[in-house]
Amino acid sequence: MAVKYELIKECKQSGARLGRVHTPHGVIETPTFMPVGTQATVKTMSPEELKSMDAQIILSNTYHLFLRPGHDIVKRAGGLHKFMNWDRPILTDSGGFQVFSLSEMRKITEEGVHFRSHLNGDKLFLSPEKAMEIQNALGSDIMMAFDECPPYPAEYDYVKKSLERTTRWAERCLNSHARPHDQALFAIVQGGMHKDLRIQSATDLTSMDFPGYAIGGLSVGEPKHLMYDVLDHTVPILPANKPRYLMGVGSPDALIEGSIRGIDMFDCVLPTRIARNGTTMTSQGRLVIRNAKFTDDFGPLDPECSCYTCQNYSRAYIRHLLKADETFGIRLTTYHNLHFLLELMRNVRQAIMEDRLLDFRDSFFTSYGLHDNDKGF
Ligand SMILES: [Zn+2]
Repeated sequence: MAVKYELIKECKQSGARLGRVHTPHGVIETPTFMPVGTQATVKTMSPEELKSMDAQIILSNTYHLFLRPGHDIVKRAGGLHKFMNWDRPILTDSGGFQVFSLSEMRKITEEGVHFRSHLNGDKLFLSPEKAMEIQNALGSDIMMAFDECPPYPAEYDYVKKSLERTTRWAERCLNSHARPHDQALFAIVQGGMHKDLRIQSATDLTSMDFPGYAIGGLSVGEPKHLMYDVLDHTVPILPANKPRYLMGVGSPDALIEGSIRGIDMFDCVLPTRIARNGTTMTSQGRLVIRNAKFTDDFGPLDPECSCYTCQNYSRAYIRHLLKADETFGIRLTTYHNLHFLLELMRNVRQAIMEDRLLDFRDSFFTSYGLHDNDKGF
């Protein structure tokens, strides 16, 4: 198998697990956060900068690379690692989520999804087989099975039909995957917020023996306690000797709560997206650096942060850059936010090692200003 999970230890206090995922491009220490490089770049960050903050793996989007520049170009460049000059692990999603969230005029059939490009309106088609062809051409270490992510809320009957089709699609992905020796294909558990449907999806997919499992269809607008309920009854069905990936989740509280529930991998555009709007995550909670009160604040974004931004630049300077629409300001907030989440996950791993993740959660929530599970980021 292309990817192998190694359990190091379980936290005696929380049940969270510390592990390693071995991939063709190196080892990932878990639980881990994956920065998102949608268009074969983590917006404004160079690969060297990502390495300097010790990003272990990044995620890239099949839908976007399919539309532009086209997977054939990436393949001719020698694969995505060479194309973007990133020699550490890469995970690619299946394109399913973007088809449903970005494109127009989509039509779902058993065969696949017909849709129009959000860039130029071209008529396009994605299917399990096409999603495998594209990801095989990209050459990511971890590929995702083509799935449908139903909206929230959605009718029970629709969610049931959708997840059953997603399971049939997962089998077609398995059958058309051309590079199982050096690319690991993860399946995606769906089922909305319904306990029996989640159990059905997880049971059916685990019987097919994928090298890893993702939980999709969460963080789509539901209250966080619902997401944690779904994790509570889904994760125990997933095999203990395979990596578990919670898709699209990246708020600090959800990263900690997900780790407590046995999740190994997370990804989200949140840290990079809010950075571009001038919002930063700090040890004292959210900070909207564009606010006027920071005009003459010459302290760092986060006095407890050791990142490049906080060691060298002040809140006043960063605010000035953002107000003046200078790209460097966005680079500084992006660097800090990504470093903050990667550092948070290093602290989570350390707390698991020392059997004190629940204590760590409580003290983090207090300093971050979170007192219940439904607060934002
Ligand atoms: Zn910082």
